[in-house]
Order: sequence, then C-alpha cells, then structure tokens
Amino acid sequence: MSENLYVECLDCGYQEDYCPNEFYCPKCNGKWRIARYGENPALGKKLLERIQHRPFDLWRYIELLPIKERPDISMSEGGTPLHHAKDLGMMLGLKNLYIKDERQNPTNSFKDRQAVITMSALQKEGINEAVLASTGNVAISYAAYSSRASIKLWAFLPSLVPVEKMREVAIYGTQVIKVTASYDQTKAVAAQFAKQQTGSLYLEKGTQSVPTLEAMKTVGFEIAEQLAEKLPKEGAATPWRTPDWYFQALSGGVGAVGVMKGYRELRRMGLVDSVPKIAGIQSAGCAPMVHAWKNNQDVADPVLKPYTKIATLATGDPGRTYTLLRKWMLEERGGTFESATDEEAFRAMHVLAEMEGMSMEPASAVAFAGLIKMTRAGLIDPDEVIVVNCTGHTLPTEKIILDKQWAHSVKLPAPNEDNAKTSTKYPEDGILSALSRVTPDKYSHIAIVDDHPHARRLIRRILQSQGEYTFYEAKNGEEAIQIAQEKQPDLMILDLMMPKQDGFSVLDQLCARPETASIPVIVVTAKELTAQEKNHLQGRIHSLLQKGDFMDDELLGEVKSLTK
Ligand SMILES: *Cc1c(COP(=O)(O)O)cnc(C)c1O
Ligand SMILES: [Zn+2]
Repeated sequence: MSENLYVECLDCGYQEDYCPNEFYCPKCNGKWRIARYGENPALGKKLLERIQHRPFDLWRYIELLPIKERPDISMSEGGTPLHHAKDLGMMLGLKNLYIKDERQNPTNSFKDRQAVITMSALQKEGINEAVLASTGNVAISYAAYSSRASIKLWAFLPSLVPVEKMREVAIYGTQVIKVTASYDQTKAVAAQFAKQQTGSLYLEKGTQSVPTLEAMKTVGFEIAEQLAEKLPKEGAATPWRTPDWYFQALSGGVGAVGVMKGYRELRRMGLVDSVPKIAGIQSAGCAPMVHAWKNNQDVADPVLKPYTKIATLATGDPGRTYTLLRKWMLEERGGTFESATDEEAFRAMHVLAEMEGMSMEPASAVAFAGLIKMTRAGLIDPDEVIVVNCTGHTLPTEKIILDKQWAHSVKLPAPNEDNAKTSTKYPEDGILSALSRVTPDKYSHIAIVDDHPHARRLIRRILQSQGEYTFYEAKNGEEAIQIAQEKQPDLMILDLMMPKQDGFSVLDQLCARPETASIPVIVVTAKELTAQEKNHLQGRIHSLLQKGDFMDDELLGEVKSLTK
C-alpha cells in the first residue's frame, strides 16, 4: 500500500522518498514537492480490484495516499453523498447538476480529509506539535483531529474569523491566537512562530503540504466513482466518469488543485478519460485569481486588503497555487475563474436551502452563486455534467440572510394556578386566538397550470418559501378553465406547452368569458416563442418567464406585485 510513494520537486523534477517534516528539495532548494506513486494502468487495475471490498470513505484509496493504513484517529472521513440537484437544475435549465455533500464530514467540512491524513502522518513520525494559520474551517478540523492524535495545536486566526468559530476551535483544547491583521499577515506570523520553536514542530502549508493536497484529491476520486454509478455513459472506455465541470469556492486553492491532481492520476491509471474543467469561484472582495485570469497573467497580484464578510475565503495572496492551477487548466480542458459578491452568495445560500433543503456555509454558497452567474451568461451547456462542492458551518450567518419576519411568535397567557391542578390544558379559544396571528384569514389564491408535476411542485415551493398562498393545481387545459371559473383565483401561472389544449387555447377561453377575463396570468414556458406567438400573447398576459432561465426572485416579485 502506497508502496510506490515518492515526492517530486515541481521546479527541478528531483525525486526522493517522502518524509513529512522535510519541506525543501535537496537539489534546488525548491519549496514545492508533490507526491507521486508511479501511477500507471497496472496500478489502476490493482486498485479497482481491491477497492470492491472496502467501505465507501476516503481510505479506500489508500494506495494513493501518503500513509499506509486507516489510522485509529479516523472518524470515517469522506464517502460523502453526491446528490442530484433536480430543483436547482430545473431552475437553471441544467439536467445533470450534482452536489457533493461535504457537510457530512465529522466537523462539517472537507477540511476533515486533510486534517485526518496530516495528523496521522505526524503521529507516525512522532511529531507532537503543529502550527497553522486559518480562516476558520481548517482550524476547526485540525483542532478536532489533533485532540484525537494527542498533538498540541497552535491555531493563528485573523480577527475577521467569526468568534463562534474561534470558540469552536478552542473547545478542542487548541491554543487559539487571534491576530489583528489580514489572513496573509497571520500566515506570516504563524510561520515566524514555528521557526522560533525548537524541536520538531509541523507547519501546515496548504497546497505545499503533501498530506493536504493528497487528501483533497479524494473528493475527485469519489465523484468519479459516484458519477459512473449514477450517470453511466454508454460505451464508456473507462470504468469511472469525469464531470465536465467541478465548481469550488477558492481561498488558498487546496481543494481545486487537489481535485485536478486526483483526476490527472486517475487518467494516468486508465480509470477516467479526462480532467474536469475547474470553475474556481472567489469572493468579489478578495478575488486575486479572478483578476489574474481575466488579465491573462500567470502570476496573481495579491489583494492586500480583502473586503468580504466571508472570512473563509480571505486568502489575498494565492502565490504559486494560482500559477499551477492555471497551468494545469490550460494543459487540460480549461475552466475559468469567476467571482461572486457577498450579496449574490447570501442569496444563493437562501435559494439552496429553500430549493434543495441544504443549508450551507456562505463560502460554499459562493460556488453556487458562481454557477448561477455562469449559467445565466450562457457559459454552461445544458447537457454538461456539473458537480459543486458544498460544506457546512451555516452559523452564524443566518442572521444576515433572514429578514425580520423569519418567525411568528405565539404568546399564551400564564396558566391559572387553580386550573392547573385539574387540567394542564389551555382553553381552546385562547389557543385559537393566539394562533390567529399566525394564520391570516385570507390568502391570495393562485392556480398553477402545468402538465409536469415536478414543475408544479417547484413553482409551489418557490412561492411557499416566501409567502402565504392557497394553491390550486391543474395538469391540463380543461382543469385550468374549470378552476378559473369555479375558484376565481387571484392569479394564474400558466405553462404553454401542454398536450391537447395548450396554454394559448386556455388564454383564448379565459379572455372569451367575462367572469375569467380579468384573472392576471403569468406564463412560464420552456418553449422558444416565435414573433407571431409573442404577438398573440401581447396584452393577454402579465409577464413571460422562460423556464430554466428564471430565478425564484423574478417569479416572487411578479406574484407579489399581482396579489397585493
Ligand atoms: C476551505 C474552504 C474553501 C476554500 O478552499 P481552499 O482549498 O482553501 O481554496 C472553500 N469553501 C469552504 C466551505 C471551505 O471550508
Ligand atoms: Zn528541486
């Protein structure tokens, strides 16, 4: 197992055995060496055979990891599910949109992969102290695993890290050092601290730490296996499958580089045929890689003063990580760097919670905001296979994205002492009167007409998430007319393409009858309309939304304005 492991210098190519506490190339003094395993089709075949009998977590790829066996400190890292995001996909017009649910790691982020491998490598080497600088999640994860490995950890955190996260680090017994400076400066302080200590102390160096990069590639390995199973490709030449796009929010770039390295290894071993296009999404207030990419630079200019509420992504100076990522992207199928504002990220966070039932941290929402932006700009083909990395740690951001009306309150009068002995119940009318504040007596009535149940459900959910409505659903033209006549809805949301009586015919009939002629109609359609059809709709409908190209806020805005 990992019998063939060695490290290779990225500058001069010099190869030697791996030792966790040696950071420099003895030949050229280069600072960046990456792990190699002599990956070839024979190793691929061996892995494929052995893997069948192993549980689905990151340890199944042990031949391609820098430690030799599943360590005692493991809490079952990786092996996270890949969800098909049907509703978000439908909203964006993407059939094959998947979410890699990294929230399900022991401390809710994909950093657990690197923490467990790093801490067990240190344990094996007898190294008892480690130092890191972090924007939050790495510290939380390393704190948990250092405690399991009995390794003393010093965590240097820039002061912009939310205090809730700092406390979470401290609770594991990690020494927290709060630095009033940027993250890049904090890294320099941590490195200086490490240098001053005597004895063997490990300094975490992100992409330039072998265990870290090796751990992150397992995200890509799992996706390749999961896609082959969930979305098998006719006549595929390789046993596993590569997505067309891998979306990941970028700070230091460890995740993106790791996944790319992983796919390059899988391809050399004959397990996949290509490397995904990477969409690296940064927070607009700290987007050095995006700027460099758009200006065609192979070295990124550091952002000295990051300006974002999303502390997790506040690496201002990506250093050589950007240069390597760009090089690999240009060697492979390409990819892109894009940015998203905090507002776009918070909005995406809310959409994902409402549409997919997944509450994620703002840093992950940045990746989804990038996806939404790129899809709307026409940069993603509707048939492409897309995977987005999603991690946890929602707190403490909810307070930023929820409006003041996020909860109803119900107050009951204090129970009467005398009654309490005979009955613990409140009189029913008291409860009803308290509840009357929660349920107003009249909701707007909305008819949803679409022959696809999934589309009706999606529209209903979008509206329900933001307001109180009574819904009628119709699956064809006849039902739509009937509902219009009998229920007199305040609004109809109408699909155009339906078998037998289509939406045009429904509109004709509504207009022809005085009792239904004034019901406002919003058309939601997947059909590209001809000029003639558009003319036909003119004046008869309130607005036209293109399916796969409307966001929930557009629909909500229209509905709110029509049902006031
Ligand atoms: C760490 C982290 C990132 C950034 O990852 P890098 O590998 O440092 O670029 C993005 N999103 C989340 C949720 C993270 O925890
Ligand atoms: Zn070298």
